[in-house]
Amino acid sequence: MDRRQALSEGKGYMRITLVPFQGVDSQVVEWLMEDLVSRGVDVRHCAPLPLPDAADPLRGQYRAGPLLEVARGTDGDHVLGITDRDLYTDGLNFVFGVAEMPGKAVVFSTHRLAFGAGRERLRERLLKEVQHELGHTLGLPHCPEPRCVMHFSNSLDDTDHKEADLCARCRRRLSPEGRRLVGTSWKER
Ligand SMILES: [Zn+2]
Ligand SMILES: [Zn+2]
Repeated sequence: MDRRQALSEGKGYMRITLVPFQGVDSQVVEWLMEDLVSRGVDVRHCAPLPLPDAADPLRGQYRAGPLLEVARGTDGDHVLGITDRDLYTDGLNFVFGVAEMPGKAVVFSTHRLAFGAGRERLRERLLKEVQHELGHTLGLPHCPEPRCVMHFSNSLDDTDHKEADLCARCRRRLSPEGRRLVGTSWKER
């Protein structure tokens, strides 16, 4: 059965697998499970995995690439790796997350999302970050609309200013299959 057929039968559509790396607060995984399920996403999670050898002791950070590789090698249509370590990639001081675009794998960090945040603010930021990276896996580039979840976050202020939703233009760019994946509550505007 191909994916389109599975969609039309209303079952077995794309799965999201959450892959926490060791050290991630289990509360973070629970929040994401709840928030993604309530948005109509078929989501599951696996037990915490050991961190790959990606630490840079001089920077006190982890290279995002090896963690992304672990996510890519994990079963699931879309696999979201989660770490509490501060991530970077070549040429950037830090990244909130990285994603294959398009592709299946994402890795993102809770490290900076927690700065200055109470529980509710952290939960909001997590959902925005996940939706942003998931949008990349579906082929969406960055969006110039500052309120759109696909807007590039240079800082947490940018993240807090965004809504946890796609703007109308980004939504139209997604295939019907992609719209289904991101859930029915990604409002039509
Ligand atoms: Zn991005
Ligand atoms: Zn947009």
